[in-house]
Amino acid sequence: MIQIKDFKGFEGQTIETQGWVMNKRSGKGIEFIILRDGSGFAQCIVSEENVSPATFDRAKRLSQETSVKLSGKIIKDDKQIGGYEMHVDDIEIIGESVDYPISNKEHGIEFLMDNRHLWLRSKRQWAILKIRNRIILSIHNFFQKEGFIQTDSPIFTGNAAEGSTTLFSSKYYDQDAYLAQTGQLYGEAMAMAMGKIYTFGPTFRAEKSKTRRHLSEFWMIEPEMAFFDNDMNMDLIENFIKHIVTDVLENCKEELEILERNLSVFKNIAKLRFPRLTYDEAVKIIKGEKTINGKKSTDILIEDLAEVKAQINNKKAELQEKEKEIAGGLKKGVKNFIQNKIDQLKNEISDLEIVEKNIPQWLSSAENFRYGNDFGGSDETVITRMFDVPVMVYNWPHEIKAFYMKRDKAMPEMAKGVDVLAPEGYGEIVGGGERETDLNLLLSKIEEHKLPLKEFEWYLDLRKYGSVPHSGFGLGLERTVAWICGTQHIRETIPFPRYYGRLHP
Ligand code: ATP
Ligand code: MG
Repeated sequence: MIQIKDFKGFEGQTIETQGWVMNKRSGKGIEFIILRDGSGFAQCIVSEENVSPATFDRAKRLSQETSVKLSGKIIKDDKQIGGYEMHVDDIEIIGESVDYPISNKEHGIEFLMDNRHLWLRSKRQWAILKIRNRIILSIHNFFQKEGFIQTDSPIFTGNAAEGSTTLFSSKYYDQDAYLAQTGQLYGEAMAMAMGKIYTFGPTFRAEKSKTRRHLSEFWMIEPEMAFFDNDMNMDLIENFIKHIVTDVLENCKEELEILERNLSVFKNIAKLRFPRLTYDEAVKIIKGEKTINGKKSTDILIEDLAEVKAQINNKKAELQEKEKEIAGGLKKGVKNFIQNKIDQLKNEISDLEIVEKNIPQWLSSAENFRYGNDFGGSDETVITRMFDVPVMVYNWPHEIKAFYMKRDKAMPEMAKGVDVLAPEGYGEIVGGGERETDLNLLLSKIEEHKLPLKEFEWYLDLRKYGSVPHSGFGLGLERTVAWICGTQHIRETIPFPRYYGRLHP
């Protein structure tokens, strides 16, 4: 049995393949099947004159998502998806598919989410999951080459590493337990044993809000390195992100094309050094008090708003035109085609209208930003709008960072944390920093954060027995997938997303 991705090695030969009927179109005496098998997509042509009447009849009745075994000859055709097509000589039906609920027309997001188990079969979801897979591979390749050891942290934990507000509580036999919101503290212990480690596992946060970048269950990569200060940490993060993006661009061309990802946004990633801004500098940018390349963030936002308004007008004009067109007497096929375009335009307009509403809000929240606060999503968007590569923000007010973040000796109000913000509004993809090594400072922080000291005794041991400077970070897998794929919402970047209000399927 030959997989679609391997068709190119069988040009001119007759082979067998199996898969699902993704789509079908009929001509006179000919049926065009788009077959998918998980490895790729291919057009398979059944022509009446080349097959038995029974086979042709079977081809005519094939419905969407029927599973089939096909045999036929592989022909090169650059115009076709995948570049090769099959001229079918026989069809065997493996599993029928009656009234498949997802068609080619536009569906609402709740409907698609309820049918996530089937929606995964669509081309777009296939492309996203392939890229997710490549990113995972690329992460392992990077760290393994750099001499890191993969270790794993527990999912059941007895302590709340960063306070308990976003924890899922659970029972561990007769004890109270939480699902891990980070593996970091354990990562630190493992780094003291292994030098450089990374964990890669599921993470749980009860984020009680519906945003486009928060899941309740997500995967995080958390490297932790002994003998690393925060500058070394930032160098590592930058190389790491450059590696992932370059690797995906090189190996997922077909997938990125399916997603219609605008690749020009990545053109400088490998070449340019990521800007490193202190928190103080970043705040000035947000408030429009610091220019980048002669421009203030607030001016750029005002320009963006005008651009969005123009785009909305253009799309509305196009919509009107299509609505006029469809009102005339047209063939069913043409009508469906235009209707699809109309639905698509309406969706695009409503997306743009959201941005149109958002920009004035970003502007006012930027103006009112209070020094000392953490950045909200809109603040991150404003900062990254000024650059075309990810931006690192470091040296944060220690009060808004976790208890284990190292205080800067020169500036005691600041902690040596770093966040990496992805462009185009994707926001924070990495949070990390250097870890506190001063036992007394840690003790006072644990008290200040009202954390149960007893649960942290093992962690404090790490400072008593051969403590060394060390740093680490966490990269959210799904946010990275969303950014590279250019998806509107993080929920499409994991097979079965869990977010506020969604537990099924
Ligand atoms: P945010 O402020 O954006 O909610 P955070 O500061 O709480 O994120 P960290 O604790 O620094 O996040 O976690 C490290 C990384 O994990 C983040 O940079 C992000 O990529 C990812 N991450 C955090 N929370 C979520 C979430 N709810 N869903 C998906 N990814 C997340
Ligand atoms: Mg963070």
